[in-house]
Amino acid sequence: MNRRHFIKRRVAGTAILAASGLVHKASAQNLPSPDRQNPDILDVDVLVVGGGSAGHVAAIQAGRLGTKTVLLERNSQLGGTTTTGGVNFPGLFHAWGKQYISGIGWELVAKTMKVDGKEFQDFTKVPNRHPDHQVRVNAHLYALLAEEACLEAGVSLAYYQFPQTIEKTSDGWLVTVVGQGVQYQLRCRQIVDCTGSASVVGMLGLERMWSDVRQPGTQMVVFKGFDEKVVQENKVLIQKMYDEAIADGRLQKGDTWRGDAMAPFSGSSGSNHIFGANSSTAATQTQTNLAGRKHVLRMLKFMKTIPGGENATIDRMMNETASRETYRIKGETMITVRDYTSGRIFDDALSYSFYPIDLHDEHGVKPKPLPHGKVPTIPRGALIPKGSKNIMVAGRCLSSDRLANSAARVQASCMGMGQAAAVTASLAAKSGVTPSEVPLDQIHAKLKEHGAIVPKGTRA
Ligand SMILES: Cc1cc2nc3c(=O)[nH]c(=O)nc-3n(C[C@H](O)[C@H](O)[C@H](O)COP(=O)(O)OP(=O)(O)OC[C@H]3O[C@@H](n4cnc5c(N)ncnc54)[C@H](O)[C@@H]3O)c2cc1C
Repeated sequence: MNRRHFIKRRVAGTAILAASGLVHKASAQNLPSPDRQNPDILDVDVLVVGGGSAGHVAAIQAGRLGTKTVLLERNSQLGGTTTTGGVNFPGLFHAWGKQYISGIGWELVAKTMKVDGKEFQDFTKVPNRHPDHQVRVNAHLYALLAEEACLEAGVSLAYYQFPQTIEKTSDGWLVTVVGQGVQYQLRCRQIVDCTGSASVVGMLGLERMWSDVRQPGTQMVVFKGFDEKVVQENKVLIQKMYDEAIADGRLQKGDTWRGDAMAPFSGSSGSNHIFGANSSTAATQTQTNLAGRKHVLRMLKFMKTIPGGENATIDRMMNETASRETYRIKGETMITVRDYTSGRIFDDALSYSFYPIDLHDEHGVKPKPLPHGKVPTIPRGALIPKGSKNIMVAGRCLSSDRLANSAARVQASCMGMGQAAAVTASLAAKSGVTPSEVPLDQIHAKLKEHGAIVPKGTRA
């Protein structure tokens, strides 16, 4: 290719990037190149869809492997439930006094703590309550540092964008991407679906599991302005007023999920249950947000009626109501609750996961700790939709039964899956094979090289 031709191609590529709103570190090496025959098509190796707990880690990992990577995120920032949902306490990286999940997610958590001037708790002691080993991070800072890491890794970031159609090609996918004022095509070899709901898997007609009875979501909100002393002095009366408000419909079941009227006064941001929460489409997310916001208004109106609550107002509130459970894929392997609680080391395990069985329902939640010493694993097969080629998932939509999912869905586990799926997808893209064909020892070696902890006792 002569210099004039090269410059013409770069200019065409830059124009498409500008039109698509893709943000990237401007270097020739990182620039997704337009297809020679059809300059309106961008060519990349790996497309990550969804930049939440799993997706931003996946994109950073793919970028760090030198894989041409685009990350589509329908919202305005990275982190998903960790940041936009306000669940800024990722867990659990440690089990039984030892670290089991490390890598990019942990690196970002550690960096956030450092920049924020915070210190970690002591992880060597096994806590009485599992939340003691979650790490409370500054969500705003986390989103900034995740974005910085993405750009440094050469990932092309596309906010407010999502796939509209996907067609199979001989060696991957042709994806039409849309966003406000934006429409373009991407050709990629591998997709990592990190949408939380396996939306891409659904678009491809691959099997997903859905339960009509699902865990409720939560609208993260912190109230302020009440007179704490007066509120505490009137606890019994306030509980009575709360129960009356539930009975006459001014408040609803789930407005505090333990039925404890004091919960919203504790400064804790997640004391409510939003039943039917579902983030899987724009329409259901709209309904979920409406339900979450109605809850906040109901609660605020109630607070203003109680002793000490006259000046109550909202301190902070997330602009999206978070969902705990939507679609899960039916994968090559399904993790059962028995696999999870027995700490099964799958032959094709890629990462660890650790959390109590934590199924929220209309009565609240009673976390069931794992038997002593058990640390479950995430197999590659649970990240590969059954019968598929060239697509993986990472995050809470992994193939698992509902009870196993109630634990495996947590953020440290999602981050570990994101990194593992990205290594697998990148190696598959480079050697022109499908994710299940990548030799496990190669995946494990790359994961270790990039700071991840690989389960011991696996086939490789
Ligand atoms: C209220 C609540 C409390 C929780 N408590 C804890 C806890 O204490 N500790 C813990 O570790 N975990 C907790 N969890 C679980 C954990 O936060 C989630 O399961 C996890 O963050 C899910 O990560 P994910 O990457 O799968 O999905 P998400 O983080 O939800 O990310 C999905 C991303 O994909 C984007 N997206 C969706 N569809 C598209 C599309 N079509 N195109 C482009 N982008 C798309 C979304 O905008 C989002 O950014 C809690 C969850 C909830 C809801």
